[in-house]
Amino acid sequence: MSLLLSGRWPDAERDQWLSLLRAALPGETWLLSPPGDPGQAAEVEVAIVANPLPGSLNDLPNLRLIQSLWAGVDRLLQDQTMPAVPLARMVDPAMNEAMAQTALWAVLSLHRGFFDLQEQQRAGLWRQPRQLRAAEWRVLVLGLGELGGRVAQTLAVQGYAVSGWSRRAASLVGVDCQQGQAALVPALARADVVVNLLPLTELTQDFFNATSLAAMKRGASLVNLARGAHIVESDLLTALDSGQLSRAVLDVFVHEPLPDGHRFWTHPKVTILPHCAAQTDARSAVAVVAENLRALRAGLPLQHLVQRERGY
Ligand code: NAP
Repeated sequence: MSLLLSGRWPDAERDQWLSLLRAALPGETWLLSPPGDPGQAAEVEVAIVANPLPGSLNDLPNLRLIQSLWAGVDRLLQDQTMPAVPLARMVDPAMNEAMAQTALWAVLSLHRGFFDLQEQQRAGLWRQPRQLRAAEWRVLVLGLGELGGRVAQTLAVQGYAVSGWSRRAASLVGVDCQQGQAALVPALARADVVVNLLPLTELTQDFFNATSLAAMKRGASLVNLARGAHIVESDLLTALDSGQLSRAVLDVFVHEPLPDGHRFWTHPKVTILPHCAAQTDARSAVAVVAENLRALRAGLPLQHLVQRERGY
């Protein structure tokens, strides 16, 4: 049997993954593109994927597992032709840590006014901001999964007044956990900053629209570290221009790379990151892949399976 490593990435990045995977899984046979030959295709047992081309996993009759190297699987799930075998996503401890760092930087910078101080410097202004304690600054984290849960707890340890919102009930030390639609509007209305770490699904697409942005506290900020399509970009620009929101820190966009000339590039109240809030760290992620492969072969439960019907 063989393992297929398939994705849309530069050769150098693929080769780095391949060498780490080979070291973690010695003795395996690897294919680097979907085989055209039916004999070879019948040998493929597991597909390890990073944004593969739609349809590229078809015609693998003995495929038993698709293991994504990325945490978000929204694009994979849009591929209607994807074989109906178990799909596992990446949950990488190093990625969780990186996401917590990015969220902490964004929240701390908003709380202490550091983005505004950068603007003041460019304008040659010496103006000292009012200093609030972390406990006086309310943060709402949307999504309390692997990433959101870690982010909420990291912020709570720093002393922020952290609430979290998820679909089902959650319990996290130091975090006021809320769930369900009824809790959403009051939570949005209280927060000084909202950090989005929801997965992109049918229910969460366009989550930040004119209605939900109007439900946020006037002058609050939005930090989007999840997916661009969570936000109706034109509605966010309107909210920023009107002063309803003070600032948006955006790592993800509807179209990536963010197109030249997009208003976000030059908007004084927008801080842009090039989708780098948290990357899969191949050095730790290969262990996750290897563990799932061993579980598959031993008939043990697989880790981090996606529930296709709910979209994450
Ligand atoms: P996860 O472990 O699956 O957690 C998802 C969380 O969102 C869960 O708490 C879930 O609630 C909640 N949720 C889902 N649908 C909801 C809804 N309709 N209403 C309320 N809550 C809902 O996902 P994760 O690993 O934390 O990743 C989150 C997302 O981060 C990924 O899907 C990806 O889009 C994004 N991401 C971004 C980067 C980056 O660099 N910017 C890197 C990696 C991932 P339950 O707990 O009740 O199920």
